[in-house]
Amino acid sequence: MARIELSRLAHSYRPNPSGPADYALKEFDLTWDDGGAYALLGPSGCGKTTLLNIISGLLAASHGRVLFDGEDVTRLPPEARNIAQVFQFPVVYDSMTVRDNLAFPLKNRGVPADEIDRRVKEMAEMLEMTADLHKKAQGLTADAKQKISLGRGLVRADVNAILFDEPLTVIDPHLKWLLRSQLKHLHRRFAHTMIYVTHDQTEALTFADKVVVMYEGEVVQVGTPEELFQRPAHTFVGYFIGSPGMNVLPCRVDGAQATVGEHVVRLRGGYRALPQGAKTEIGVRPEFVTLSRGEGLPIQVERVDDTGRFRVVKARLDGLAFNALIPEGAEIPADGVRASFDPQATNLYVDDHLWPAEGEA
Ligand code: ADP
Ligand code: MG
Repeated sequence: MARIELSRLAHSYRPNPSGPADYALKEFDLTWDDGGAYALLGPSGCGKTTLLNIISGLLAASHGRVLFDGEDVTRLPPEARNIAQVFQFPVVYDSMTVRDNLAFPLKNRGVPADEIDRRVKEMAEMLEMTADLHKKAQGLTADAKQKISLGRGLVRADVNAILFDEPLTVIDPHLKWLLRSQLKHLHRRFAHTMIYVTHDQTEALTFADKVVVMYEGEVVQVGTPEELFQRPAHTFVGYFIGSPGMNVLPCRVDGAQATVGEHVVRLRGGYRALPQGAKTEIGVRPEFVTLSRGEGLPIQVERVDDTGRFRVVKARLDGLAFNALIPEGAEIPADGVRASFDPQATNLYVDDHLWPAEGEA
């Protein structure tokens, strides 16, 4: 197991990159703690696989360094990095049995036969494949083959880290849930450094202690699920995490007040010396919106969906989509509806990045 440090890392697939748009990964520093359970979350094309392949050594980064426990491994090939990687689609030897497929990574490392036997049995049990151990991989379903791939990634005890690249994409929903809880259990038991790539927020938030959010080649936030919810560092994190996502409203800022359209919104602190000409927006999650006929911004309610504990109110504010989550029992006025926000939960964004109020870190 190892602590993994990425230092001034960047990657372009082009031979002569000329601007930020030519970079699949824009320069950043990032440390993955030894034994951490991480999710790497972001939409398709944001650079997740590129980053994973740089950590495992399948891809050489065009800039920066990769360190394992302080040792520079930037130029080491994958075999020398001792990383297990599970891909989106099955990687199995069709002509081998399930048993031999699972045993392969251990045989390669010269693990004694009795230990191989023990580990393979344990893995087969976890994957619910004990009855299939003698079967050739060839005839098995895509689900089963992907389970073998997962097993091959998890079977070794001595790896520096295990990287999962959207490993459950081809697995059916019930099994997905089961395997995800097994991974969590394995992490608690063996404390491997695990990085789990996904574009699904539920998957990320249930698996990980820490979530690394990527957007267009940038790492926009690293935080616990709570931090991502309370203080999204970037408007993208606000939209992407939460259901529905954060409301983002263009505004002007004057001290501790924001003006949205012609309505004033109170902020939790003062803001001075904002960059000239920058885009300014407030972000407020639907959970922190209150509806009344009194004070606030006028909205037009379009529909209300009852989810049980909450009602999701879909509305328009100055023509923009706007959502509120209203607890069961709280009133939603029939007309003349106004939305007000908890100032403590109202964040200011400058050019999409969270901007601290005076006195905040
Ligand atoms: P993700 O895994 O988040 O979907 P990728 O890391 O696969 O994203 O891709 C990031 C960006 O790099 C995308 O714009 C993609 O088109 C580009 N890219 C990925 N692999 C290659 C490649 N081998 N050659 C050129 N461009 C690539
Ligand atoms: Mg990918």
